[in-house]
Amino acid sequence: MNQTRIRNFAIIAHIDHGKSTLADRIMEATQTVSQREQHAQLLDDMNVEKAHGVTVKARTVRNYYHADDGQEYEYNLIDTPGHVDFTYEVSKSLAATEGAILLVDATQGVQAQTIANYRIAKRHHLSIIPVINKVDIGSTEVQRTQEQLETLDATFTKARTLLISAKTGLGVHEVLEAIHERIPAPQGHPDQPLKALVFDSLYDAYQGIIAYVRLIDGHVHQNDDLRLMQTGEAFKLKALGTFDPNMQPEKALRTGEVGYVVTGLKDPRAVRVGETLTLKSQPTAAAVTGYSPAQPVVFAGLFPKDNDYETLKSAILKLSLNDTSFSYTEERSEALGMGFRCGFLGAFHLQIIRERLKAEFGLDVLTTAPTVTYQVLLKNGQRLLIQNPVQFPAFSLIEEVQEPFVKAEITMPSDSLSAVLKLVDGHKGELLDMKNDNDLVVIIIKIPLSEIAYHFFSELKSVSHGFASLSTEFLDYEVGDLVKVEVDMNYTAVDALAFIVHRSDVSAMTQALVHQLKRTVPRQLYPTPVQAVVEGKAVARVDVPPLRKNAAVNGDAHSISKKAALLRRQSINKRQAAKNAIKLPQSVFNAILEL
Ligand code: GDP
Ligand code: MG
Repeated sequence: MNQTRIRNFAIIAHIDHGKSTLADRIMEATQTVSQREQHAQLLDDMNVEKAHGVTVKARTVRNYYHADDGQEYEYNLIDTPGHVDFTYEVSKSLAATEGAILLVDATQGVQAQTIANYRIAKRHHLSIIPVINKVDIGSTEVQRTQEQLETLDATFTKARTLLISAKTGLGVHEVLEAIHERIPAPQGHPDQPLKALVFDSLYDAYQGIIAYVRLIDGHVHQNDDLRLMQTGEAFKLKALGTFDPNMQPEKALRTGEVGYVVTGLKDPRAVRVGETLTLKSQPTAAAVTGYSPAQPVVFAGLFPKDNDYETLKSAILKLSLNDTSFSYTEERSEALGMGFRCGFLGAFHLQIIRERLKAEFGLDVLTTAPTVTYQVLLKNGQRLLIQNPVQFPAFSLIEEVQEPFVKAEITMPSDSLSAVLKLVDGHKGELLDMKNDNDLVVIIIKIPLSEIAYHFFSELKSVSHGFASLSTEFLDYEVGDLVKVEVDMNYTAVDALAFIVHRSDVSAMTQALVHQLKRTVPRQLYPTPVQAVVEGKAVARVDVPPLRKNAAVNGDAHSISKKAALLRRQSINKRQAAKNAIKLPQSVFNAILEL
């Protein structure tokens, strides 16, 4: 396709504002997918996505559009994920495009994720087409949504904003026309050496790593000898092509185009997102710049349930390639054996990874309580970075502990304000600023990352009846009164159950925890004492009752000697049983997770 008739774009929106529905309409209108073979929401084909109704990984699809000007255009649509944990995924998809459709639900108006996505698009200098969706619904507030958009960006005037229904197809033709009229063609140089941005990748068991690329300059052909500029790794290209939305082999990809290359490389770590792909014999002068990888903020241990360590290892390796914001290192736990300490963008990301391990690899994993990164200064001046409570030093050695704080922006309708402020207060948040934006209130708060990383988002959704939105950025590390809680069973510490909390929460949390554990720790033949220990002192305790009632107390022994014999036998059993480690089910870890 002539470069002047290529358009690369994404649809960005708050969750549920209709992005996937519009993507389907565009594919339908360009006959990329005939209506008959189309099943609901083609791009969301990962099982996990179906279950949660959100897009997790960015998808790409090429469409050919016959425009009203008589020309045929190549429309490369890159789908972006729609959850707060995945801002990084949005950013890397947008790096491959020149434009974006900013979609806003007319019944909801501009939401925080609309604003966050708009800002990312501006940072990438994209041409943005404002679109108001769901105008088929009776009770819409098109006028107000339009005003909100113009407040967000003065160029989003009424004349420039398109009104559509992605569901009925109303106005979708105008969107298709606006794409080639308002989004510029890619600017690269076809006669310069190949320079391609790797913006995504996946691992295929047979073909190795498949990289999703956007060609900045030059072109790439079958059998080309290529090189990755960051790692220096060279390879012969196995195959290449585009997405329709399935992989469609082609002979070449040209300047400005989006497609895939089969590298044949088998090490899942060989190709990182943000890499620059070039020709081995004739490399481009400079790599693609301005690309910083996402930093995981929440860490948890993942352990195989059935001692299937090798299977878990290869699954984690493949997932980390497919999802570069997910990190891992090997970890050995006394209680759980060999496993991995993994880094995530947030609690929802952790949940997604668990579900993908199950759905794509058939693996059930045990997940330990998630934790953020703490900085510990020792009395001897040494500084430690702790991402695993097991490594938390003995309290007598510690000078001070610092924890990460974030600045969070919460956008909500004004009637949820008091409920949200109460929630923020309950999570040690501090109000920094508050402003009104149309009928929305925006508050800026400072809050410990550990308070916001786990359940905060779902609590926020619940107190605001689904209307509040959240975006966060890292602020700094600050000193906090933090202690490690160790959980002992049979007077022995279970390493995988340790966690770090604020001292002020110790009493309430450990009481709640031991009562949870009383119900979830599997009963043994003997009573199992369970204790929460802080700085060497037991602060909470329960005894998990034995499987069978104690014969000596409740049995119907008729004689003293029979009773004594029974007691003797029981105590032998007890001593033997205590030597066998207790097998911990996931519900035990959930008890900590749910605190
Ligand atoms: P996404 O999260 O942005 O991908 O949103 P979806 O495309 O999954 O849409 C969310 C919900 O809104 C689905 O139930 C859609 O059927 C519905 N929806 C999307 N567009 C429209 C529209 O124009 N009108 C109406 N009435 N519903 C729509
Ligand atoms: Mg969707």
